[in-house]
Amino acid sequence: MKKKLTLVILISILSSYLLLIVFSSYNIRNMGLKGAEDKAKIAAELVKDGLTAHMVNGIMDNREYFLKKIENSSNIQSLWITRSESVIEQFGAGFNNEIPRDEIDKEVIRTGKPYKQIYETSKSAHLRFTMPYVASKFENPDCMSCHTAKEGDVLGTISMIIDVEDVRSHGLNTSFVIFAFTIFMSLFVFFIIQKSMNPIIELFESITYVMSKAKDGDYSKRVKNVGKDKEYINVTFWINSLLDKLQETLGEIQNTVGEFLSKRDGQDDDILIELKSLVQEIADIHKFKKTIEFDEDKTQIYNRIGVLLKKRFEIDDFVLVESDKNHVNTVYSTFDSSQKISPTCRAFRTKQSVNSEQFFNICENCSKKYKYYICIPYTISDDLELMLHVGTNNIENVEKVKKSREKINDYINEARPEIVSKNLTEILKISSTTDGLTGLFNRKYLDEYIEKSVAQAKRTDSNYGIMMIDIDYFKMVNDTYGHDVGDKVIKALSKVLKNSIREADLAFRFGGEEFLVLLFNCDENKIDEIAQKIRVTFSQKSIQTAAGESFKKTLSIGTAMFPGDADSIWKAIKYADISLYRAKESGRNRVVKFEKEMLDGSNLADEF
Ligand code: GH3
Ligand code: MG
Ligand code: MG
Repeated sequence: MKKKLTLVILISILSSYLLLIVFSSYNIRNMGLKGAEDKAKIAAELVKDGLTAHMVNGIMDNREYFLKKIENSSNIQSLWITRSESVIEQFGAGFNNEIPRDEIDKEVIRTGKPYKQIYETSKSAHLRFTMPYVASKFENPDCMSCHTAKEGDVLGTISMIIDVEDVRSHGLNTSFVIFAFTIFMSLFVFFIIQKSMNPIIELFESITYVMSKAKDGDYSKRVKNVGKDKEYINVTFWINSLLDKLQETLGEIQNTVGEFLSKRDGQDDDILIELKSLVQEIADIHKFKKTIEFDEDKTQIYNRIGVLLKKRFEIDDFVLVESDKNHVNTVYSTFDSSQKISPTCRAFRTKQSVNSEQFFNICENCSKKYKYYICIPYTISDDLELMLHVGTNNIENVEKVKKSREKINDYINEARPEIVSKNLTEILKISSTTDGLTGLFNRKYLDEYIEKSVAQAKRTDSNYGIMMIDIDYFKMVNDTYGHDVGDKVIKALSKVLKNSIREADLAFRFGGEEFLVLLFNCDENKIDEIAQKIRVTFSQKSIQTAAGESFKKTLSIGTAMFPGDADSIWKAIKYADISLYRAKESGRNRVVKFEKEMLDGSNLADEF
């Protein structure tokens, strides 16, 4: 900038002075030549008047002396006169040197126009001047009194060659002096301008530097003080104050925003850009939080986190796994096939993230299946963990997780209280519908569930096989071994039931030691087969007492079909109970199927 400005100033000063020199040199030269011309004219007039005087005085023969005298005056190199033909005719040729010497003389005699021309070489400069001697009766004396001529006839010429070298060298000398003076003046003006421009340039350069740094996100640089001028001081102060304010405010905003988000690695160099993206993130996380607040259960939240990882963070090949004290469940998966995660998985066990780059074969299980993997555990509550498990052949998936780790963490942090609260609600719901001793559904759940499921069974044309189960002589157990051992027997039976039915089937603790089982889509033969299996399995179970003794118990089962035996589920349950009664009646430790005859003599069929 400084160089450019200096060059511009220098060029403009020099060019204007150069123009001045050329212009003045030209004028000086012209003035000099004009002077020489004037001198030639005066000399010619002098010759003309002198010759006229000679003529009048009749001493024309002495003219040579007169002409020599003039010729000898300064700068006149040669002077001669010529006669026109009419004068030669009238008075003779005169001296032999008075005939036209060259074409210029002849031309001037012919045209009557004066001639002037400068002849220059590098060493010399001459002015050739030839003036016609024109006849006029108005002159004093009247030319026609002697000459036989008409008004305006050319009588002869006066020619001279004048040395104008001194005019030229004088012009050059003057130009040189002007040139030297202008160079001096140029430098002087340049120095003055530069001195007054320096602080402005320095200020401009300092502002340019500070602003270019600020543009790249570095707001720490300040404009330098360049002088005592009030305007410079003000500009510097204003810019620096603005930068102070900007830096301070941005720092405060960053700290405040930082409280809402995890610490980030590799932040943007520009704090302003960084803040923009942080604020955007906070807004996104806030929207996410607002959305999950109204989600129905934690499954929906997990699903939302899964979609977020896939769509927002563009991660693929991952599962989200939930682990409570008893189970490990996959709650979201991008894999087509199921990915088995062990409850003793290293990340769950150590509560630290595990990734394939940490150490060769760090997780044996994952190393067998994937080229790259990363497992990050998130503690949701004391007994609930969530894990992001990425197993992939594309390292980009792992890199994306690493890059977005803090952001993912922020989303999980926001989701945490919602997951905990939804988890608690679910636990409460389950505990209100399950029996504490056996973990089976209770009567309350049966009441809630039965209407819905039966309506669905009717729609899909499905049926239920119903089993009513009661332990034989159970009171005896309580009486003999105590209530705790009685509970043990009840638990043993519930275990047998759980192991004997499919996922679609349901087992309820119906009363004290009475159980109801609903077998979905089950035909009559199948229900009998399952009932027998339950009966036999339970009868073979050995129950240990605290005293080290052991005993076995039997049970009785009554079965019925819905809608095969009854058009209402509650009626069918009652029929199964009647069958159970029959089983007890006919000797216990058996399975009895409902028959219509069992209703004979009773009005049960009409009760429902
Ligand atoms: P039966 O062969 O006719 O069924 O004879 P039973 O002795 O089993 O008679 P019943 O089915 O009427 O016995 C019910 C007994 O079960 C009464 C009660 O003391 C006991 N009982 C009910 N609930 C529990 C329980 O939660 N724990 C224990 N230990 N006993 C229970
Ligand atoms: Mg009983
Ligand atoms: Mg009973």
